[in-house]
Amino acid sequence: MGSSGSYVPTRPVDWSEIRAQLRASGLRWTPQRRTLIEVLSRTDGHVTGAELIERCRSVDPTTIPSTVYRTLDVLEGLGLVRHSHGANGREEFHVLPSGVHGHLHCTGCGSTWEIPADEAAEVVESLRASRRFAVDVTHLSISGQCAGCSEKTAH
Ligand SMILES: [Zn+2]
Ligand SMILES: [Zn+2]
Ligand SMILES: [Zn+2]
Repeated sequence: MGSSGSYVPTRPVDWSEIRAQLRASGLRWTPQRRTLIEVLSRTDGHVTGAELIERCRSVDPTTIPSTVYRTLDVLEGLGLVRHSHGANGREEFHVLPSGVHGHLHCTGCGSTWEIPADEAAEVVESLRASRRFAVDVTHLSISGQCAGCSEKTAH
């Protein structure tokens, strides 16, 4: 899944600092967590929790899913990963750096597109004005039908 390059890049992650950051968050530095950090540092873009667990297991077969998810939670709190949801609601993790974006999911063909922050701005501004609601664009997932699929349905 490519990005258009129009996003504001965030600061690159210094994965060597993460051990200290996890300790400061009260997490022990364990081999499983080290494996997850190693896997994440080699991961780009979108990845599901199940995919991460699979990749961790190929390095360390004793990987426990709950440990992976708990660590991802803490890493999200530190701003190192972000999650959003696929069309079926499952969590997809973004490994930073990646630009702020939401997602479109086609329920017909299963395709996914990123919505850059500037494209989402109109919706964000409209909800801010009408409801004083602050939209979290990174957590915004919209399901529907893409152009190709809605054409097929119409015929
Ligand atoms: Zn969520
Ligand atoms: Zn489609
Ligand atoms: Zn995304």
